[in-house]
Amino acid sequence: MRQSKLFGKTLREDPKDEISANARLLERAGFIYKTMAGVYDYLPLGLKVLDKINEIIREEMNAIGGQELFLSAFQPKERWQKTGRWETGNEVMYQFKDNSGHSLGLAWTHEEAITEIATRFISSHKDLPLFLYQIQTKFRDEPRAKSGLIRGREFLMKDLYSFHTDEKDLERFYDKARDAYLNIFRRCDLSVYVTEASGGTFTKSYSHEFQVLSDAGEDWLFYCKKCGYAQNKEIAKIGVGHLCPKCKGKIEQGRSIEVGNIFKLGVKFSEPFGLLYADEKGKKYPVVMGSYGIGPGRLMGTIVETHRDERGMMWPDAVAPYRVHIIELLGKEKVKKVKEVAEKLHQELLAKGIEPLYDDREEKSAGEKFADADLLGIPWRVVVSEKTLEKSSAEVKRRDKQQAQLVKLSQLKNFLAK
Ligand code: ATP
Ligand code: MG
Repeated sequence: MRQSKLFGKTLREDPKDEISANARLLERAGFIYKTMAGVYDYLPLGLKVLDKINEIIREEMNAIGGQELFLSAFQPKERWQKTGRWETGNEVMYQFKDNSGHSLGLAWTHEEAITEIATRFISSHKDLPLFLYQIQTKFRDEPRAKSGLIRGREFLMKDLYSFHTDEKDLERFYDKARDAYLNIFRRCDLSVYVTEASGGTFTKSYSHEFQVLSDAGEDWLFYCKKCGYAQNKEIAKIGVGHLCPKCKGKIEQGRSIEVGNIFKLGVKFSEPFGLLYADEKGKKYPVVMGSYGIGPGRLMGTIVETHRDERGMMWPDAVAPYRVHIIELLGKEKVKKVKEVAEKLHQELLAKGIEPLYDDREEKSAGEKFADADLLGIPWRVVVSEKTLEKSSAEVKRRDKQQAQLVKLSQLKNFLAK
């Protein structure tokens, strides 16, 4: 991609109305545009990151048997009255009337919808277990939408719902989903604490949250560095200075971001919707359910919060918008050869499937190009200039390292393919 053609220019200054680092950096770098508090548009660079995160999530959900679908955001009131959540959820749910006077709302979660749909297709134990997921837009009237992508009022969620004959089967899948979640976060280079948490509005039994330590977080965590044991402060039975109940390590406290969570729903939704299955003898039971959420946008915001320095972002390879940032420095003499070499490298990397962003902008100074490269945070920076060409080389540097090195042009493709 030629940077001269890229939609989304960098801004010199931080946006004035953003306090969170993720929003400031992503807006300045042209990844996102703020429509209003908690509502962001993804521009080409931002969408590339989001797509990569979504693809990682998809791969891991498909690997545990998930089938992808896509449910509507528009919801009828009657569906939500079955669980009482039209009334109890009205603080988060956007509710309104259409021109014919019907009450409607925008889904802030999809348990009601998926359970209703499942009643048409699940009737026998032979239909179970079943795992359905989507990556879809949710709407929530969040009162404090000040954390950039971490707390949207319109945001993407991956929500998976599982359907089982009994608790035991749910338990088995729950553990698998937990491992799939750990894979997702590892692939996004996030270290998470699997945290015991309360079942919230769903269940009395424990659920689990996946928490990333960060000052940008809104939660507080008690955690043990040694073995990874953690509890959310909301329900904690441990505190700072206590001994870890698992390994006797020291318990510490820190702010954290909840990037995902998993719940055992039991029959909370299947009962009101009459979602039943018949066993071998024809006896009917309510289907046992679980739900599993991740916010891809929140994940993106969390990656920025935890992968940055004073100059900008530092994307992990797996989710970086581009893998290589080619920077041509034509110098005052506008050396033709530099452009030829950079252009050729751009084409070669494209052909090799190593996505390059090519800074071919002629009006920008070297200083401006380097500052933009640091802000954008693409993992590899490759500088081609008259000076590097004297050594038949380009200067290569990782965004997260200080040291640069000269790599011979003939070896560059293979070097970057590693
Ligand atoms: P929180 O306590 O942070 O409000 P939640 O408990 O309401 O989160 P869920 O309703 O279980 O979260 O949503 C599942 C996942 O969706 C969360 O783990 C998070 O990754 C993401 N998510 C929830 N709310 C938002 C939001 N307002 N903006 C972006 N992502 C969100
Ligand atoms: Mg919430």
